[in-house]
Amino acid sequence: MSERKLKSRKKLVILSGAGISAESGLGTFRDSDGLWEKYDINDVATIDAWYKNKKLVLDFYNARRIQNIAAQPNLGHLALVDLEDYFDVYIITQNIDDLHERAGSSNVTHLHGEIMKGKSEHDEGLIFDLKHPEIQLGDKAADGHQMRPHVVWFGEAVPMMNKAEEIMVDADIVLVVGTSLNVYPAANLIYSCPTDAVKYIVDPNDIPVNSEFTHLKGTATSILPKLKTILRFQE
Ligand code: NAD
Repeated sequence: MSERKLKSRKKLVILSGAGISAESGLGTFRDSDGLWEKYDINDVATIDAWYKNKKLVLDFYNARRIQNIAAQPNLGHLALVDLEDYFDVYIITQNIDDLHERAGSSNVTHLHGEIMKGKSEHDEGLIFDLKHPEIQLGDKAADGHQMRPHVVWFGEAVPMMNKAEEIMVDADIVLVVGTSLNVYPAANLIYSCPTDAVKYIVDPNDIPVNSEFTHLKGTATSILPKLKTILRFQE
């Protein structure tokens, strides 16, 4: 018998994306009313953009941070907290917002950083909670270098990938919610879990995943509160 089968509680790993926060008023990147429509990714979310126009990038993320502070966790985020009564729950999120934490989830790994934190542009290990909702050009980290948002931009490495793969590798149940699985390497995580893990994907749209996934079609707030009932059969 494998070590996995001897565990008393099953390990539930959730991979979340922008869609879970859509009903909290935070726009996704790829929906028609999403942020992609209003901004060019190359101008605000790449490492080249930072060196080209730091003020524009800071303004973009300052606006995201202010939006995040005003947003509240929705019934989808809250439903995932309830699942901790039955499963060992690990959330791996591509989101930079802190709505999983504010809902009360205890084990959240951010693949693409955290909007409420800043770091030094010179030392990516120098990460800190921000004291103000905005970072201005000229604001310095403790090492004397310009502060930047603690987010992973296109063109940068994803330091939390190894940890996320380690979390996925012995999952009993995998739940993918609110992600188009278009951003790599994050999207590859669905291949890191065991083939015999039970797999669900929650999304109002069809997402190209293999037949191992059961598609629960609908929004996060309509489907996730029902999961307790659906997953109890997997306990
Ligand atoms: P995406 O925009 O590519 O895809 C969003 C997915 O959510 C789509 O498949 C869409 O059908 C689905 N969706 C829309 N409304 C939903 C709802 N109410 N309930 C459930 N699903 C819903 O997002 P992504 O795959 O996460 O990739 C975008 C990247 O942008 C991520 O890397 C993330 O870091 C970043 N991002 C983060 C935030 C945030 O922190 N809230 C917001 C926008 C973008």
